[in-house]
Amino acid sequence: MSCKHIFVTGGVVSSLGKGLTAAAIGLLLKRRGYRIRMQKLDPYLNVDPGTMSPYQHGEVYVTEDGRETDLDLGHYERFTGITCDQHSNYTTGRIYSNVIARERAGGYLGKTVQVIPHVTDEIKRAIREIEDDQTDIAITEIGGTAGDIESQPYLEAIRQYHHELGPGNSLFIHLTLVPYIRAAGEMKTKPSQQSVGILRSIGIVPELLICRCERPFAAEHRAKLALFCGVRPEHVIEECDVANSIYEVPLDLMKQQVDEKILKFLELPVRELDMAEWNTMLDRLIRPPNGEVVIAVVGKYISQRDSYKSVYEALAHGAVSAGVKLNIRMLESEEIEQEGAAAKLKGVHGVLVPGGFGIRGVEGKIGAIRYARENGIPFFGICLGMQCAVIEFARHVCGLEEANSTELAPGTPHPVISLLDGQRGVTDMGGTMRLGAYPCCLTRGTKAAQAYGQEQIAERHRHRYEFNPAYRDVLEKGGLVVAGLSPDGKLVEVVELKGHPWFVACQYHPEFKSTPVAAHPLFAAFVEAAAAAR
Ligand code: GLN
Repeated sequence: MSCKHIFVTGGVVSSLGKGLTAAAIGLLLKRRGYRIRMQKLDPYLNVDPGTMSPYQHGEVYVTEDGRETDLDLGHYERFTGITCDQHSNYTTGRIYSNVIARERAGGYLGKTVQVIPHVTDEIKRAIREIEDDQTDIAITEIGGTAGDIESQPYLEAIRQYHHELGPGNSLFIHLTLVPYIRAAGEMKTKPSQQSVGILRSIGIVPELLICRCERPFAAEHRAKLALFCGVRPEHVIEECDVANSIYEVPLDLMKQQVDEKILKFLELPVRELDMAEWNTMLDRLIRPPNGEVVIAVVGKYISQRDSYKSVYEALAHGAVSAGVKLNIRMLESEEIEQEGAAAKLKGVHGVLVPGGFGIRGVEGKIGAIRYARENGIPFFGICLGMQCAVIEFARHVCGLEEANSTELAPGTPHPVISLLDGQRGVTDMGGTMRLGAYPCCLTRGTKAAQAYGQEQIAERHRHRYEFNPAYRDVLEKGGLVVAGLSPDGKLVEVVELKGHPWFVACQYHPEFKSTPVAAHPLFAAFVEAAAAAR
């Protein structure tokens, strides 16, 4: 069987949860025994989101093979358990870079290089990267909203590809908004009609319409949407806001037989659906048996929820594993600088300091870590969070006054965190960090080794700075435990503290590998320790 395709577009407004919906569909198809791959095509001009501010774009999600990508890939991996790679996310910047490189190499044989066919061919090439003989269904999500200037080449490319694939081999799903206008007491279908109108004017006729709405709609709305949008009434799906968790979305779609309908469009057998594991997880998430745990996340992009997306999700997975209700206290580290750690962290059962860049708010993070260390509160540091833990320990336990990272204070007398060897001389900002999965050897008997239940692991990285090996001796003498090293023993990847209930910090980003049905071991152990600290 050759690979079938699903193309997911969005209309009316952004932030409807297109990535989440695509991921939920991916899960259902996978649980029906199909091998799937997923991909997001982002119409913006950056080559990847790696250079974008978290305020602009939210979290940068890192793949195993070291690509900096859109956070929707996090939904894909968390929902479906598949592993994304460099082909799972393309942007216009990347597509154009390829086109221009080919043009410079003489690859267009004297032709005038144009959006159609050359850019659209390049987009189709990107789509074909995720079709292989290991894949039954490839799901491609088009970023942005129908009608955006930037989206046009993508819509044209999927129109062409749908045509080339022939009937029964691909399907267009359009996600739209059916707003409820409170003042009028009515739901409105017009924005959806217009959005489908845009698609039809360029030759795309969506076969399945998924409507985001605040409340269920009546038969008349379904009939109207079906009539004006040219889809059958049973192919108008309502996706209402879920009550408890985004992980309920697949069940909502399942109840409306979305997966079965998709398989019929794709002329594939409707195999049995097995959601047992997912349902068990959801039950534990919605009705946690072991009470509530308060975890403080201390960061500097707190106002933008998407900045720490995978961290929040991984904490939720840890809570499922520990059987507790998760209450996250999101704290701006600068507030800790102003009001003191004791005031802001009172009553929390665990403190997590996530990754980050630059000096703003760092002293607040260090203050929070000191408070957690001195008061025996479970602490979990990730990337910059680990670097801050090392700085804090050097300053307040080892007496290395003004210890710092050379990223934050280039002239520090004690550069306990300094540039990785491979980073010296690197001037380009895009895609030049230490990125992707690297192996790590854990030290027997440490909390990390205990949590993982093994000593050989591989985790994803995204950083330029590292624990400075010149300070390893003095910090270890002070009581810091090196719990994880690169296989050559040169890079310190995990540190811990002796005599503290749970104090673990890692240079890598464990949050990228956590899923709701298999919480990352460090997140599970951290939430467990926080629960025990109540
Ligand atoms: N800014 C730090 C570095 O580049 C940490 C990066 C991060 O937290 N992702 O090493």
